[in-house]
Amino acid sequence: MIHEILPVGPLQCNCSVIGDEKTHEALVIDPGDNIEQIQALLEKHKLRVQQIVITHAHIDHIGGAMKLRAATGAPILLNQNDYALLQMLDVQATWIGMENPGKVEIDQSLNQADTVRTGGLTAQVLHTPGHTEGSICLYFAPQKTLIAGDTLFAGSIGRTDLPGGSFEKILQSLHHQVLALPDDTRVVPGHGPATTIAAERENNPFLRKR
Ligand SMILES: [Zn+2]
Repeated sequence: MIHEILPVGPLQCNCSVIGDEKTHEALVIDPGDNIEQIQALLEKHKLRVQQIVITHAHIDHIGGAMKLRAATGAPILLNQNDYALLQMLDVQATWIGMENPGKVEIDQSLNQADTVRTGGLTAQVLHTPGHTEGSICLYFAPQKTLIAGDTLFAGSIGRTDLPGGSFEKILQSLHHQVLALPDDTRVVPGHGPATTIAAERENNPFLRKR
């Protein structure tokens, strides 16, 4: 599996470009900004984008999605519980001083236990509400890799004080879904360095036994 991680935009959202090295089909997760750089990565590996997956509808994760869709023709996938947040991208833009990306159209909802396939790669969708109602994680079981969005960070968890956030729900999502994954799972959070389930189980102050 080809996996490039590119921090994009003013909040340095980790955009993942994930491709099958045999078929050269790919998915792009969270193209928040810097679409030219994402396209350069796709060209470097000769990848064709099949899906654009959004872990949640915060502007730093979704801001460049329409531009990437226009360039590649790939559909945009987002859990339907975050559609309400799409109606306030203009407000979100003012929060962080980003340009309003305009209307974002979703082609398909991604729900709990759905699978996303590209080439020979399969990711399982975990619906993990808490940071937002529609937050999802993508789990590539054979590659032992979790794309965690803003649900889990190295040493921390996603903030729950924004519209749609819930501290109770994020803890439930983390304990019942994320920590159910094997210890040696590599976790790529929405911001900051990668970690593992074992490291977070052990050291994350939010995840120690309640
Ligand atoms: Zn977020």
